[in-house]
Amino acid sequence: MEVNLKSLFNGSLLMKVKDPVCGMDVDDTTPYKFSYKGKTYYFCSPMCMAEFKKRPEKYIK
Ligand SMILES: [Zn+2]
Repeated sequence: MEVNLKSLFNGSLLMKVKDPVCGMDVDDTTPYKFSYKGKTYYFCSPMCMAEFKKRPEKYIK
């Protein structure tokens, strides 16, 4: 139980989010993020972020 709680805590500190362009898991601490229609999207690289900004509709379901 103690181990499970600890891993949950660590998980919340290092939140993984998905890059909508390439599908990679990225940390939410990444400097590459962009808010669109009230939601924040995170990216692995400036290239993915630029790609999303060009055609956000393509990557939002
Ligand atoms: Zn990416």
